[in-house]
Amino acid sequence: MKVIIIGASHGGHQSALELLDKHQGADVTIYEKGDFVSFLSCGMQLFLEDKVSGVDDVRNFRPEDIESRGGKVKSQHEVLSFDADKKEVTVKNLATHETFTDTYDKLILSSGVTPAALSVPGADKENVFFMRGRAWALKIKEKMQDTAVKDVVVIGSGYIGVEAAEVFAKAGKHVTIIDMIDDVLGNYLDKELTDILAPVFKKNNIDLALGETISAFTGDTAVTGVETANGVIDADLVIVAAGVTPNTTWLKGLVDLEPRGQIKVDAYLRTSAPDVYAVGDAILPLSIASGKHAPVALASSARREARYVIRNIDKATPTETFRGVLGTSALSVFDYKFAMTGLNNFTAERSGVSVTGSFFTDTLRPTFVTNDGNTDVYVKLNFDADSHKILGGQVMSTYDVTAHINTLALAITTGLTLEDLAEADFFFQPGFDRQWSLLNLAAQAALGETK
Ligand code: FAD
Repeated sequence: MKVIIIGASHGGHQSALELLDKHQGADVTIYEKGDFVSFLSCGMQLFLEDKVSGVDDVRNFRPEDIESRGGKVKSQHEVLSFDADKKEVTVKNLATHETFTDTYDKLILSSGVTPAALSVPGADKENVFFMRGRAWALKIKEKMQDTAVKDVVVIGSGYIGVEAAEVFAKAGKHVTIIDMIDDVLGNYLDKELTDILAPVFKKNNIDLALGETISAFTGDTAVTGVETANGVIDADLVIVAAGVTPNTTWLKGLVDLEPRGQIKVDAYLRTSAPDVYAVGDAILPLSIASGKHAPVALASSARREARYVIRNIDKATPTETFRGVLGTSALSVFDYKFAMTGLNNFTAERSGVSVTGSFFTDTLRPTFVTNDGNTDVYVKLNFDADSHKILGGQVMSTYDVTAHINTLALAITTGLTLEDLAEADFFFQPGFDRQWSLLNLAAQAALGETK
């Protein structure tokens, strides 16, 4: 079986690993248009905060890791097109400008996304940056160390925007986050939690300009400010983290695309072209919690999708459909650490699913534990009002309770109810937790029990 993979990031890497591991004799080639294989944007904050050995170590894999297993990795090779009838791709070697064709039995698209520019006047000015990939990581690092950069505006209060804001605040810059939504991280966390986090930003020299729409970037050649209806916010540097564009323009007419450009996939992650599969940020995966297709831009999702595709790649029709993803993810915001999975109020509304929420707060350990970092913990559970099936949740504390979210993800995947979670046999040890574990207590509270 000859397989061509497009894109050497999470989806492409996992596809190659699975093929070389599970399909003896598979002929595997990854084509990657970038010159560096394979920068790990997930580790960009760690690089910017000097927590890694070096920028070139922040990567998923080195070409030789795949080549030593028998695969081929071709960087600086852009796939321009494919012909589903001839089972051929047209590839351009970006170093030599030579164009050639290669054949495949199966083709896997993991072409990902690119940060979207804002379509407002001045968006192309100098010092308007994006936070994805190795080249931007190096440029951002330089600006962190530049004393002429005093005011940084971050556009977008999602995970990437918050990471950027924290990095610059820690580097001593004055930071403003602008977003059109009303709550920082409001697409990931429900209001009970965003209300706890909002003052944390202010305390750390980050202003929040929420509910504001950007009308222009000011300045001559370089940006000097960001204009909203409320005036101009000074900016020596702007980081735009307000959405992405799928890398699929070249696929128009070759496979069916969603209205926003993502690759349309069926229940088996097959595209509309025969023997062509798609994974990663460039698709709209099925949400386990809502039963609908929705954007989930996570490395963890790309890898699950790739694993499923390769497990079934030699079957005409797999016996099981792709189960879907939950968007399980985590982030720290200065001292706070949170994690979420499944539906929150924003994603539930977007998917047209009605959820009931229950917010629970307690101390990590019994209150008599006074000297061992005992602190507040917060849990939000979202569930179906009639069946009590758990559909989503969030956990947060200054103590690291994020691993609880994996239990919750499993609970959603297996269809557990509040009643199941309220009585699940989790451990108690007063050095770690309460007499009931955190998720037991949160589920009991959601059922209206008070203790
Ligand atoms: P991408 O990573 O987008 O890569 C696509 C690749 O395809 C690119 O290398 C591109 O050059 C190549 N390509 C595109 N078109 C062609 C073509 N025609 N020919 C050849 N090559 C092509 N996710 C998490 O799960 N956890 C995290 O902590 C996390 N943190 C993140 C932090 C930041 C700052 C960012 C930006 C993202 C983060 N993510 C995180 C998201 C994660 O990086 C993405 O979900 C993941 O990279 C998606 O992988 P992918 O394979 O779909 O595509």
